[in-house]
Amino acid sequence: MSFSVTVLGSSSALPTSKRFPTAHVLAVHERFFLIDCGEGTQIQMRRFSINMAKINHIFISHLHGDHVFGLFGLMSSYSLMGRKSDLHIYAHRDLADTLEHFQTRFGKGMPYKIEFHPFTADQAREIYSDRHMTVEIIPLRHSVPVAGFVFREKPRPLNIRKAAIERFALGIRDIRHIKEGHDHVLPDGKVVSNSLLTLPPVRPRSYAFCTDTACFGRLAESLKNVDMLYFEATFAEKDKKLAKATGHSTAAQAAALARKAGVGRLLIGHFSTRYKQIEPLLAEARAIFAETTAVEDGDVYSIPLEQRALGNSLPAD
Ligand SMILES: [Zn+2]
Ligand SMILES: [Zn+2]
Repeated sequence: MSFSVTVLGSSSALPTSKRFPTAHVLAVHERFFLIDCGEGTQIQMRRFSINMAKINHIFISHLHGDHVFGLFGLMSSYSLMGRKSDLHIYAHRDLADTLEHFQTRFGKGMPYKIEFHPFTADQAREIYSDRHMTVEIIPLRHSVPVAGFVFREKPRPLNIRKAAIERFALGIRDIRHIKEGHDHVLPDGKVVSNSLLTLPPVRPRSYAFCTDTACFGRLAESLKNVDMLYFEATFAEKDKKLAKATGHSTAAQAAALARKAGVGRLLIGHFSTRYKQIEPLLAEARAIFAETTAVEDGDVYSIPLEQRALGNSLPAD
């Protein structure tokens, strides 16, 4: 059960020879979600062995070119590749005209359908849900409307102890009932407590993606305890004023937020091209939140499944 992020692009505004503009791929249980689609995203997918055809859902944080210009090339390539499955795009509603124009101008005979899911990013809400996970948008603060995305696995049912199945000759219906948290009643009327029959479920994992944005107090609430947070660190602390003026954050502000929210791990990126070295930004962040990593294009970050011993023995009566 994988849960991993591949960084395809980690530069801000301008691409460099080492960093492409923003794009991430999140892989959860063999589903692939593209988050932002800066220029060159499809080239990065080829470089880092992401199967483009497996992407059915694309989430765009905001309508600045460094987060969306790759979408049009990608849609065009999908046509050439003969894609058949629907492509779901989640973005601010203002993208609608551009998508329409693209389809009229360049999309003649497109073999697949685009399903556009517009949002306004002014309040937190769930925008996606399937059997395994949900995606929530949270409003951020920038020069245009921006949404952060929080990807969460759905809680899993309780795990049944294998020994309980044998000992009490449990059938499929019994097992389903017990996994829902109920006690088990034996034929003689004796009740076996659910806690003797089950083990707690594996903890659901979560990943939050927040760029571009200034830091503000209430964000910590929305990001509370996420396992992994990607947060922009466009500027160093000495350029704090510039960060404020442009609706961006410094590495230290990202780290202070990560600490306040109690996240497991912080990834920083979207570095301004003014910095030739990223180490000073990383040092500023680590001084506040030690579990910080400065991402590079091509990096893969996984959240392992919490391992629990699936006990085969039952506790003594
Ligand atoms: Zn940007
Ligand atoms: Zn922006």
